[in-house]
Amino acid sequence: MAEIIGVIGAGTMGNGIAQVAARAGYSVILRDVKEEFLQRGMAAIGKNLQRDVDKERLKEDEKSSIVARITTTTELESLRDASFVIEAITEDLAAKTEVFKLLDEITGSEAILASNTSSISITKLGAVTRRPDKVIGMHFMNPVPVMKLVEVIRGMATSDATYERVRGLAEKMDKTSLDCQDSPGFVSNRVLMPMINEAVFTLYEGVATRESIDGIMKLGMNHPMGPLELADFIGLDVCLAIMTVLYDGLGDSKYRACPLLKRYVAAGWLGRKTGRGFYEY
Ligand code: NAD
Repeated sequence: MAEIIGVIGAGTMGNGIAQVAARAGYSVILRDVKEEFLQRGMAAIGKNLQRDVDKERLKEDEKSSIVARITTTTELESLRDASFVIEAITEDLAAKTEVFKLLDEITGSEAILASNTSSISITKLGAVTRRPDKVIGMHFMNPVPVMKLVEVIRGMATSDATYERVRGLAEKMDKTSLDCQDSPGFVSNRVLMPMINEAVFTLYEGVATRESIDGIMKLGMNHPMGPLELADFIGLDVCLAIMTVLYDGLGDSKYRACPLLKRYVAAGWLGRKTGRGFYEY
């Protein structure tokens, strides 16, 4: 029987992780809290794979077998037989802690519990389980099927064996893993988010229009996307949550979130996923 990978959360990241795991040949159980979120996640996977079929990078029957390897569920208990679980729910410590406690009870004692968190402490997540040696950060980039990197984060208690298994899994998923320490925002978001936040400040202060800010960074720095466009792509709620973790965790006022970012999140303008952010979709 193929190894079972559990993925928790079928949103932007969860459905991408489920797709690459199934494409690598694993049986995947994808869990979200509502049936409609699962259906939306599966629709995104179908659309992504269809693009590959259209571009002749994938055969139709391969697409069908990848999709067939993914089962969806709203019941966390269905992850009982998973040997590897990757959590990709909302960036919220309390919510993630709850999931890790439950996963620790439900899954076999040898199962590895990984988090795709962008900024939350892996050590903290490990500490709520009876297996902190098997808890690790596996931070995929968005969009998961396209981006090569997986940032691998070891908590205080993460064992070498867990680390090696995660590296092996990343390789099977055709990803390149790079290590970093368990520090707020790790490397990727410690560097990226303050840049995005600063771009929001320039918009807030009227330094330039959204088009100019993005255009300057694209044409001037050779970035493939402007920072505001990228923030919409990531999700403004995710950006705000990461800035809050940096601010609280590092205790430096330079990480304070721009009031305009907070205002957009309060309005429910979260970027692409809600049809409106700094741009309209
Ligand atoms: P999202 O809002 O698109 O999706 C989150 C999903 O989790 C939703 O479908 C929600 O219903 C579900 N969920 C919430 N609580 C749950 C629970 N208890 N059990 C199962 N499902 C639950 O968020 P996202 O952008 O996919 O982010 C998920 C994680 O990935 C976060 O930790 C985020 O920081 C991280 N991340 C995001 C990006 C990005 O660019 N968006 C990149 C790297 C990492």
